[in-house]
Amino acid sequence: MSATPLVSQVDLHNSVKSALLPPLLGANVAELTAWVQQQGQPAYRGKQLHEWIYHKGVRSLADISVFSKQWRKEVAEIPIGRSILHYRSEAPDGTVKYLLQLADGQIIETVGIPTFAERGEGPKARLTVCVSTQVGCPMACDFCATGKGGYKRNLARHEIIDQVLTVQEDFQQRVSNVVFMGLGEPLLNTENVLAALKSLNQDVGIGQRSLTVSTVGIRDRIRQFAQHHLQITLAVSLHAPNQALREKLIPSARAYPLEDLLAECREYVEITGRRVTFEYILLAGVNDLPEHALELAKRLRGFQSHVNLIPYNPIQEVDYERPNRDRIQAFVNVLKQQQIAVSVRYSRGLEANAACGQLRASK
Ligand code: SAH
Repeated sequence: MSATPLVSQVDLHNSVKSALLPPLLGANVAELTAWVQQQGQPAYRGKQLHEWIYHKGVRSLADISVFSKQWRKEVAEIPIGRSILHYRSEAPDGTVKYLLQLADGQIIETVGIPTFAERGEGPKARLTVCVSTQVGCPMACDFCATGKGGYKRNLARHEIIDQVLTVQEDFQQRVSNVVFMGLGEPLLNTENVLAALKSLNQDVGIGQRSLTVSTVGIRDRIRQFAQHHLQITLAVSLHAPNQALREKLIPSARAYPLEDLLAECREYVEITGRRVTFEYILLAGVNDLPEHALELAKRLRGFQSHVNLIPYNPIQEVDYERPNRDRIQAFVNVLKQQQIAVSVRYSRGLEANAACGQLRASK
């Protein structure tokens, strides 16, 4: 995990255009301390800067009132790396969808998902943020809205962290969990995703076990990811119990067969000691029959894993259907009978077009 080098003093004095400078968000206390010292400031300013960036939500260095007026003026143009709120909408279930505008004008989507204590989540309410990792997505999975809009670029480290801070500040509540399940395929942006994970853990203060990265599977990337020995949760979008069906739903599966993907997932478990979550979208009549459940159970037998079923959320472009509750329950029952750990994710935020698969960075 290499850190982005911080702005050097030379750059500052040459007053290079601020947009070209790497933003501060994502830098840790040591890096911020080194930077303030380069500026001729005392070391303790680094810790203050860290506090203001990550916990006070400051958006411009000019607003850090504990700094001298003179220095604030000098560094006012150095970007912290915060986005602009473009649109916000709240679903009746409390889920909030945000469209955020980045420095180059691109729009991404982030979702804040509060879990209320009365929903049986224990005494303390949780706040989960679903972050994007790319502008758009190149994977083009048939059932997902994101891919329909094409792909623009990877998000930088600060653009990922900013999403979490934005939700935290809006809810005025500490974020407890982050799921990398928004726009994009995280493992096509591994370096920035790793840097963001590290900063969310160390700078924002979210436990590694409360961070989840979801991938459709990119050859060799799961193994590479495992080498970092993180304690985060890896979720793999499986969606089918066999290669033939998976290929129909996920174009990239052709070049990366299910067997190879599962072999890499096994390596992930061996290397990290963490079980893998398999996500499985339920499409009525397509992959939700009891025989599919049985085939899935056979594939996953003896695998340290957990299956997370996601009943399909409708999107305009395709005419899949969500199975009814009885069919969902029948699928669950087969897996349970086969001793496969399983849960159903009834998506939140449907009314705001903020549920799994509905994100497309538009209202
Ligand atoms: N690219 C990553 C991250 C996206 S996560 C991945 O594929 O894992 C979003 C999750 O929602 C994935 O499991 C995805 O397959 C699922 N999903 C996509 N479209 C959906 C839809 N219409 N209904 C329900 N889930 C969907």
